[in-house]
Amino acid sequence: MKKLAIDRGKRHTAKRGAGGSSNDVITLKNVSKSYSTGAPALNGVSLNVKRGEFVFIVGDSGSGKSTLIKLLLRELTPTDGEITVNGYDVVRLKRRKIPKFRRNIGVVFQDFRLLKDRNVYENVAFAQRIIQVPTREIRRNVPAILSVVGLAGKYKAKPKQLSGGEQQRVALARALVNNPPILLCDEPTGNLDPKNSWEIMKLLDEINKSGTTILVVTHNREIVNAMQKRVITVKKGIIISDEEKGGYIDED
Ligand code: ADP
Ligand code: MG
Repeated sequence: MKKLAIDRGKRHTAKRGAGGSSNDVITLKNVSKSYSTGAPALNGVSLNVKRGEFVFIVGDSGSGKSTLIKLLLRELTPTDGEITVNGYDVVRLKRRKIPKFRRNIGVVFQDFRLLKDRNVYENVAFAQRIIQVPTREIRRNVPAILSVVGLAGKYKAKPKQLSGGEQQRVALARALVNNPPILLCDEPTGNLDPKNSWEIMKLLDEINKSGTTILVVTHNREIVNAMQKRVITVKKGIIISDEEKGGYIDED
């Protein structure tokens, strides 16, 4: 895999938000989220993530992990509590400011979510077109990020011509091409075999080492235990442990 060659000079600069130290790129203070039915999906969650950290979020299905990701993306607003992301007060963010805010965050999902009728190049270029990057720059940026994820030479392939691991690498390139300071991954290896899962995780580790703050929701016990990163365990909407160089907690 090629070394990272992303231009790190063009990041969005953060405005200072409410609360949190200048090193914190994500803060949650007493955040709760209730849906119209059932117990709260998150219940009084507080958490700080420093710029440049790599954090695993683990926990049983239904424990509130995806709800947390959606709150960070402002796809949802909390029932209670404060959230800041890269200096933005996410809870009070005006609707018209959401698109600009979202440029701070790259996101990767379990099911890849690629455009099926577009090729690899177009899937990645799409993210740049949305924010009106000039075509000249797109032609430079897309090949650069595709070579970072090891897909140089596959520009013309359609998603269905690629393996799951390759599709997820396209999704990762799309998430990163606009050079966001934060990357959120919700079960990025959930549909991948062990070899491809490792490749994606190693890539995430490299991307993190080049400065991107990364949160990864995962069930992959073996990888979490091997990588020795910060591990936050969520259970029924509550953080039950938060450990530097942690491992996967056995619940049973
Ligand atoms: P996880 O990602 O850890 O599996 P989720 O955040 O998806 O957990 O869900 C947490 C809880 O919230 C679960 O009990 C789930 O059923 C509930 N939930 C999630 N989304 C909704 C929704 N849109 N409406 C109602 N309940 C929801
Ligand atoms: Mg989930």
